[in-house]
Amino acid sequence: MRIATITNWAYGVSVGLALISGTTMLLASNAEDRERAAVQQRIRFETLTVALVEDSFRMTEQAQLYVINQDPSHLIAYRHDAADLKSVEDRIVHLRDVGAQPAELEALRKGLRGADLLMDEQKAAIDAIGRGDAETARRILFGAEYQRDLERVDNLIARFQFLLGQRMDAAMTQAMRASQLLRTISEIVLGITVALFLFVLFFVIRQRILRPVVRLSDVVTRLARQDFAVDPPEHDQIDEIGDMTQAIRIFRENGLELQRLERERAADGRMRDLLGRMTQRLQGCDTMEDLAEIVSRFATEIAPAYSGRLYVHRSDRDVMAEACSWQQPLHSPPEFAPTHCWALRRGQLHRSGGGQIDIPCLHIDGATRPNASCVPLAAQGETIGLLYFEQHEAEVEAPAIADVYVELIAETVSLALANLRLRDALRKKALVDPLTGLLNRHQLEDMFNAHVANAQRRGEPLSCIMMDVDHFKRFNDRFGHDAGDEILRAVGSILANATREVGTAFRYGGEEFLLLLPQFALDQAENRCADVRERIRKLSIQHEGRMLGPITASFGIAGFPNHGSADALLRTADAALLRAKEQGRDRIVIATERGAEAAA
Ligand code: GH3
Ligand code: MG
Ligand code: MG
Repeated sequence: MRIATITNWAYGVSVGLALISGTTMLLASNAEDRERAAVQQRIRFETLTVALVEDSFRMTEQAQLYVINQDPSHLIAYRHDAADLKSVEDRIVHLRDVGAQPAELEALRKGLRGADLLMDEQKAAIDAIGRGDAETARRILFGAEYQRDLERVDNLIARFQFLLGQRMDAAMTQAMRASQLLRTISEIVLGITVALFLFVLFFVIRQRILRPVVRLSDVVTRLARQDFAVDPPEHDQIDEIGDMTQAIRIFRENGLELQRLERERAADGRMRDLLGRMTQRLQGCDTMEDLAEIVSRFATEIAPAYSGRLYVHRSDRDVMAEACSWQQPLHSPPEFAPTHCWALRRGQLHRSGGGQIDIPCLHIDGATRPNASCVPLAAQGETIGLLYFEQHEAEVEAPAIADVYVELIAETVSLALANLRLRDALRKKALVDPLTGLLNRHQLEDMFNAHVANAQRRGEPLSCIMMDVDHFKRFNDRFGHDAGDEILRAVGSILANATREVGTAFRYGGEEFLLLLPQFALDQAENRCADVRERIRKLSIQHEGRMLGPITASFGIAGFPNHGSADALLRTADAALLRAKEQGRDRIVIATERGAEAAA
C-alpha cells in the first residue's frame, strides 16, 4: 500500500474520531446547560414560593400588628393585601408554568389553602378590634390554635419546598453525571484519535520510511564508493521507497555492467600491451632459440590457463616439429605429420575437444579430448608452423582465449618465424656454395680456427685434406661449363657424404675442395681420402647424352700434430696436393713430417 494511501486513511479515521469527540463534547456541554437550567429553575421556584409565603405571612403580620397597636395603617395595608390576593389556583399557576409537578403543586395548594383559612381568623380578630374587643382579637391571633394552624401551613409549604428541592437536586445530579460521562467519552475518543495519529505517524515514519531509508542510505553510500557487491534491500511495495529501491537496483546493475566493461577493457589493454611487447621482442630475435624463449614466456602470460607448443614445419622430413613448449602440454606429441592437424589442412584456427562439437585433430590424444586450439602459422601462402594451446585440466572453468588474441599471436609469431627463415636463408646463401651445397671459403676461417683451438685444447688429432679435380678445364672446354658444374655438384655430394658424421667439407675455390676432419689421425684421414677418391673415380655422369669421364682428383693430406703447428695445416696440405699434381695426379700425397711440405 502506498504511504499516501495509508496517511489518507489515517487522516480519514482521525477526522471521524475528532467528529465523534466534538459531538460528545457538544452533548456534554448540552448536559451542562441542562444542569444550569435546573439550577435556575430551582432559584425561580424558590423566588416564587418565597413570594407566595411572604404574601400569606405578611397578612398574618399586618393583622397581628393591627391587633397589638390598632394602628389603622396596618388595617389599610392588610385590606389592600387581601384585596390583591388571588385565588389559590391563580397564585400557583406561575409555578405550574415553570414546571412544578402535580404532587408538588398539591402540597403547595394545601399550604396556601391553610393560609387562606387563617384569613378567616384574622378577619374575626380585626372584627373583634372593630367591636373594641381587643382581648378576643389577641386571643384569636396569638392563641395556640392560631399558632398551630400557622405551623401547619408552614409545614405544608416546607413539604412543597422539600419535594421541589428533591426533584431539582435529582435533575441537577443527572445532568451533571451526563455531562461528566460525555466529557469523559469525548476525552477518551480524543485520546484514541491522538494515539492513532501518533501510531500511524510512527508506523509510516519508522517502518515505512526511516528503516528503509537508513538501509537505502547505507546501500547508496557503498555504491558511491563503487562497492557494487552490496545487495539492495527487497522493497517490493508500490510506494516512493519501492520506486527508490528499484532505481538503486538499476543504478547498481548499471555500475556492475560498467565495472565488467572496465575490467574487460583493462584485460584487453593488458593483453594488447603483452602482445605489443611480444611483437617488439620477436622483431629483435636472431635465432630460433630467441624466438622459442619469447613465445613460451609471453604465451604463458597471455593465456595462463593454457599450456602449449610452437611447431615449426620441417620441409626436409615434412613434419611439424616442436620448437618450444610451455607449461608442459600433455596431449599433443612433439612431432607429427601436418596432415594430422585440421588447422593446417584448412589453413585456419581449429578448436578441438571441450564443449566443442567438432572433429578433433589426429595429433591430439583422443582419449582425454582436452580443450585445445590449433592456429596455423603461414607466410606468403606457405605453412611454416603451428601454435598449439591446450587447457589445463584444473582450469576447465577458464574462458577460451579470444579468437582475436589467438590470431594476433599467430600473426606476430608467423612474421617472426618467416623473418627468421629468411634471415637463415640469406645467411646460408652467404656461407654456402650454391652449386655444391658445401660451405664456402668465407666460413672456412672461423671453423678452421675453432677446430684448431679444440684440437689443441683437448690434445686430439685434426686432419686436413686439400683436393683438386684433375684437368677440370678440359671438361669445361670439351663439354661446356654446365657439364663442369654437374661434375662439381657430384663431387660436392660425395664430399658431403664423407663428412656426414664427422668433419666438414668446403668448396675452397673453383674445382678445389677442402675437408676438415677433427679427431681423425693421419691413417684414418688417408682411408677416408681413399674412399672419396674411389667414389670420384667411379662417378659416371651423363650430360646431354654424352658420358663425362673418367673423373679423377688429386689429394694432399696434412695432420695435427704430425705436421707441426695446426695453424699451418692448410698450407701443408696444399703443398702435398701440389706434390700429388706434380707426381702425375689422381693420387693421395701425405705431407712429409714436421711441415716439410709447407716449407717447400
Ligand atoms: P689441373 O689438373 O692442373 O688442376 O688442371 P685444371 O684444368 O683442373 O686446372 P686449371 O686451373 O687450369 O683450370 C681450372 C678451371 O676450372 C678454370 C676455370 O674455368 C674452371 N672453373 C673454375 N670454377 C668453375 C666453375 O664453377 N664451373 C665450371 N664449369 N668451371 C670452373
Ligand atoms: Mg685448381
Ligand atoms: Mg684442377
